Amino acid sequence: MRNFDYYVANSTADVQDVMKKVKGARPKAGGTDLMGLLKDRLTAPDSIVSLEKVGDLTGIKTQGGGVWIGATTTIAAVAADKAVGRTAGAVADAAGKTGTPLIRNRATVGGNLCQRPRCWYFRHPDYPCSKKGGDTCFAQEGENKYHAIFENVTCNIVHPSNLAPALWAHDAKVHVLGANGKAKDISIDEFWVLPEEDMSKETVLEDDDLVTGVTYTPSGSGSGSAYIEVREKQSYDWALTNAAARVDLSGNRVKDVRVVISAVAPVPMRREEAEAVLKGKAFSEELAWKAGEAAVADATPLRDNKYKVRLLKATVAHTLIEAARRAKGGK
Ligand SMILES: Cc1cc2nc3c(=O)[nH]c(=O)nc-3n(C[C@H](O)[C@H](O)[C@H](O)COP(=O)(O)OP(=O)(O)OC[C@H]3O[C@@H](n4cnc5c(N)ncnc54)[C@H](O)[C@@H]3O)c2cc1C
Ligand code: SF4
Repeated sequence: MRNFDYYVANSTADVQDVMKKVKGARPKAGGTDLMGLLKDRLTAPDSIVSLEKVGDLTGIKTQGGGVWIGATTTIAAVAADKAVGRTAGAVADAAGKTGTPLIRNRATVGGNLCQRPRCWYFRHPDYPCSKKGGDTCFAQEGENKYHAIFENVTCNIVHPSNLAPALWAHDAKVHVLGANGKAKDISIDEFWVLPEEDMSKETVLEDDDLVTGVTYTPSGSGSGSAYIEVREKQSYDWALTNAAARVDLSGNRVKDVRVVISAVAPVPMRREEAEAVLKGKAFSEELAWKAGEAAVADATPLRDNKYKVRLLKATVAHTLIEAARRAKGGK
């Protein structure tokens, strides 16, 4: 690991001050991803600014019809929050299933959205793949059982964040502050960058942007959401497939629905094809399975990950069934 200067900020203004003065300074929240990136020399900033003591970026509150979660709120706090559980089952589920208790107690919401991919070639120093400036995607012909089944053209990473699809199912906005003091609210569907647009990053954030929080739209009466993931190990692992769904019902008729999938493409993806199967119809398990089928119709699996197509279809169907059950008042 290369030496770096370490700043401890006490407020958002402090963070901005450092990021304005010190070019390339990286924010460190829980450090659960950043430390690995530093050790593997995937990033080597001259300076790091710790967000740990920045109180104004932590908390969960209802404001202006939305629920705001500060960027440095831990994932454990999100999982345990009663208001989140009541208004966004998908977000509570996704938080509760992230990593391990140890990771959830350190890892933060902002860091979770900004974490880098887990592709083993990307993380290994001996593979100078396209994402690291080389000219080969080793996953294309190599070991690709955990890689993408959609958008897998030049780089086959899968997006690792649990919270991303769940927050998207609740039409979240990501609040960002530039080092120039300018605040931006980025709709979560516009937050991601495909490898073909920019191989060097996964989000639209500039180097000196700071995520200050997210605001999601809570489920009202007749609305329910859920997040389900499938993984090889029951803990200490990332998802093979995951899906988040929000179902808004009028009686049993689907007024509105969101289906967002992840762990299967370089970025989380909303599946409007799956939503169209349900919208305006009476909800049934049969339709949920048809929506699952629609969600995977254009998958392009690689040699070793064809299993993900069936798995994802079932993940989407089960997630929709659970979201609808909750919309009908099921706990
Ligand atoms: C064994 C293991 C299993 C895991 N399983 C899962 C899983 O199942 N699902 C899942 O979603 N994740 C999983 N993770 C990843 C974990 O959730 C992330 O490492 C964590 O959420 C990152 O948050 P952090 O606060 O520690 O971020 P950090 O490590 O501090 O930062 C991560 C990146 O985000 C940047 N950053 C942090 N905060 C901000 C901010 N406010 N604004 C701008 N940039 C910022 C940092 O500069 C850095 O580049 C797992 C990790 C491990 C080690
Ligand atoms: S999937 Fe992306 S990160 Fe992994 S080897 Fe290919 S180019 Fe590199």
